[in-house]
Amino acid sequence: MAIRNIIQEGDEILRKNCRKITEFNPRLHQLLDDMRDTLINADGAGLAAPQVGVLRACAVVLLSDGSYLEIVNPIIEESSGSQEDAEGCLSIPGKFGIVNRPMYVTVRAQDRFGKEFTYNAEGFTARAFCHEIDHLSGGLFTDKVIRYIDPDEYYGGGEEK
Ligand code: ZN
Repeated sequence: MAIRNIIQEGDEILRKNCRKITEFNPRLHQLLDDMRDTLINADGAGLAAPQVGVLRACAVVLLSDGSYLEIVNPIIEESSGSQEDAEGCLSIPGKFGIVNRPMYVTVRAQDRFGKEFTYNAEGFTARAFCHEIDHLSGGLFTDKVIRYIDPDEYYGGGEEK
């Protein structure tokens, strides 16, 4: 198990585009293992590779059953509905804001071996997928925030922590 350092807001790496992953090798598996360990250690709901300083298109997301899903080269294939709720980011500690996100998303991605799959998510988990996938093209929730809220108001309804 290896905990990686989480890159903080202000570092330009968080604003860069990730490259598509084409090699599903032990190095990728190590990255994904470390990302999951780092996410668990930080008690977050999602972590994208740029947040550990790696510009590769993958992320790990906490699912509603408490398990973690690895998504490699993910895209939002379909989305519907909308929700406004609080969101935060492990790279922006102490800052929370209301962000509008789809209520339902279908994510298409590959697993760590390159096998393609789709995953349907709603509510909090749909928000987490949107947030992490934004990270892969340099997006942060602060780009979309409707209004900031006091950390005390944050009740865990948003993404990450
Ligand atoms: Zn984030």
